[in-house]
Amino acid sequence: MQLQFLGGAGEVGRSAILVNESLLLDYGMLTGNPPQFPVGSVSPEAVVVSHGHLDHVGTVPSLLSGDHWPEIHWTPPTYELALTLARDTLKLHGGTYDCPFTETHIRRMTQQSAPHDYGETFEAAGHEVTFYNAGHIPGSAHVLIDDGETRLLYTADFHTDDQRLVSGTTDRPEADVVICESTYSDVEHDDRASVEKQFVESVRTTLWEGGTVVVPAFAIGRTQELLMVLDAHDIDCYVDGMGTHVLRMLRNHPEYVRDPDALKRAKSNARIVSGKDGQRRRIARQNTVIVTTSGMLSGGPAMTYIPEIRQDPTNKICLTGYQVEGTPGRELVERGRCELNGGVVPVAARAEMYDFSAHADRHGLLDFLTDYRDSRLFINHGDRCAAFAEELRADGYDATAPDVGEVVEV
Ligand SMILES: [Zn+2]
Repeated sequence: MQLQFLGGAGEVGRSAILVNESLLLDYGMLTGNPPQFPVGSVSPEAVVVSHGHLDHVGTVPSLLSGDHWPEIHWTPPTYELALTLARDTLKLHGGTYDCPFTETHIRRMTQQSAPHDYGETFEAAGHEVTFYNAGHIPGSAHVLIDDGETRLLYTADFHTDDQRLVSGTTDRPEADVVICESTYSDVEHDDRASVEKQFVESVRTTLWEGGTVVVPAFAIGRTQELLMVLDAHDIDCYVDGMGTHVLRMLRNHPEYVRDPDALKRAKSNARIVSGKDGQRRRIARQNTVIVTTSGMLSGGPAMTYIPEIRQDPTNKICLTGYQVEGTPGRELVERGRCELNGGVVPVAARAEMYDFSAHADRHGLLDFLTDYRDSRLFINHGDRCAAFAEELRADGYDATAPDVGEVVEV
């Protein structure tokens, strides 16, 4: 089996791996200014997508130009998330370098889509492929690929612990070769229950004090998880941004959600904001909680809420995930100021960080890999892939960290 790492090696973003020059695993985008896309030019026979995040699926529509359109294999939620993301990218950046596709390509995605459930083996470019629940977001999959000689397990993004929205990964299919993500290879997450408790207590305190809490959250997975947390603790809230579409979409895929009834309750507990800025400014003056995109304050309706609440120290901003270097969210946590709509402004409202991660931490990664002691490991999707691979080698594993552009025979 031949593997070509076209992106997501030694970095987080633009994940793409070409297997046997014919089967493409993921085709993502590294968001930034400007964004980066996988290297090389590919025309695969088939594409398999692990899950519906921009860094794994963001560039897929661009594969549907020319005469030959590959079939695209994914779970049903991944298909819907891919469409939502593609439409959003087109809306924000259509006609520029940042959006390497058009409406026509997005339409072709629907024609070429081949959805599969977990555990259902299918054929793609001459390979036998099976999805297993990866416990990251609804529809996220570990991908097992068998070319008749070698069994490759591509873990993609995964979580070993249960979240309210999805159950953690439990399947460990046998594999000769494993490509393993390593986002949090040097981090131990606090126990989820205690993160949740601190978050809820902080939100309640601000509500008692008469303030407004803005909860910036990623649209896919995180927004729904937080609505479930707030509902479980009987805290009313508003929800705004792309996460509301995802919330509605998940109603049609209850089998990909850990507790569909709890998600339904969370949906009725949250008031959905229809999206006029006048309405947002009125809501921002209320003694309430607002869950909204974007998770790192780099756009979305948060850009309307934050200016409204920033000057009053009674108010609070609860960030709910890792803040990438250079984002307004990171600036806010570290320096108490924030770049908003073109200018840097001080923020008197208190800013706090809560680690509601959807990835395995170091302990989770090591626990997962225990089942692959005899496999050949490739470590990708992280900021310290080479260091983690070295630590694994010291522990007796056959582990390396490939570079972008590297080709290996296994
Ligand atoms: Zn992901």
